[in-house]
Amino acid sequence: MKTLDIIVPCFNEEMNINQFHNSIKDNLERINYTVIYVNDGSIDNTLSVLKNIYQTDKKHTKIISFSRNFNKDAAIFAGMQYSNAKYTCIIDADMQQNPKYITQMIKCLEHNSDYDQVAMINSNRKEKKLTIFLKRCFYKLLDALSDVKFVDGASDFRMMRKNVVEAIVKLSENNRFSKGLFSWVGFNTCYMSYNVELRQNGQSKFGFKKSIKYAIDGILAFSVKPLRLATYIGFFSSFIALLLFIEVIIEKIFWNNPVSGYPTIMCAILFLGGIQLITIGILGEYLSKTYIETKKRPVYIIKEKYGFKD
Ligand code: UDP
Ligand code: MG
Repeated sequence: MKTLDIIVPCFNEEMNINQFHNSIKDNLERINYTVIYVNDGSIDNTLSVLKNIYQTDKKHTKIISFSRNFNKDAAIFAGMQYSNAKYTCIIDADMQQNPKYITQMIKCLEHNSDYDQVAMINSNRKEKKLTIFLKRCFYKLLDALSDVKFVDGASDFRMMRKNVVEAIVKLSENNRFSKGLFSWVGFNTCYMSYNVELRQNGQSKFGFKKSIKYAIDGILAFSVKPLRLATYIGFFSSFIALLLFIEVIIEKIFWNNPVSGYPTIMCAILFLGGIQLITIGILGEYLSKTYIETKKRPVYIIKEKYGFKD
């Protein structure tokens, strides 16, 4: 069994992969490792760059190529399903996560048998202040809403022992929010901080719209509290309505004041209408996820594979 499998999800990373592979080679000279590149339906030359690397370094390279772009979490899942090493590491292809940290992670697991995985925490996010603020709010919210622990700044950049990988690949859900799954399976995690580098080439694949979708998917996958929230809001607004109703009756009986109707009714209708639409929306989100899960479609489809024996 190899010591280390390195899973690298790649979507349109033709400009970064050669540099990444060389950096891995330089940093892991004395380690028995394999890099499993997962080409997530790239539409540039990523696959041919990967094939070239495979031809020149078959000893250390394997490739899984999807039939289309599924998403980063699907790529991570595929890599983990095909991983068969003592340690499995997940790292991005864009050099934002420097491969030099891989040896530190191995050392941590080698010297501390109590730890089952090492999670890297971004200590200096080089992003816009608003993005950092929104991400922090999201992880705080997710941590509060779910029973799983979410650490602010914890990324997919991590290393796991085989038992953790086996536990994660057994989870067959379609909506795979990897950060949550890593935490959900439990095990002892060592948190290590690292400096995020700037992206070498190209642009982040997670724009504002995709990040919002990612955040909603994360909440839906790890919390049912929004559904309960709808019930609480329902009780609360019914209680307020009851108080107002009593007030109207008292005003009529004791002061003969027939409270002005139109503005009050408009406010009440708009307020309740808004709440009802929001709660129907929340229900719909959960229903749609359940609908997709019931189809039991595969998380990804492989078109080509290189370096695997079967
Ligand atoms: N990625 C992927 N599929 C996608 C989007 C991204 O495999 O649909 C890969 C991408 O090639 C990179 C990693 O996931 O190796 C992280 O993506 P990115 O750098 O765009 O994210 P950010 O660092 O901005 O969060
Ligand atoms: Mg990146």
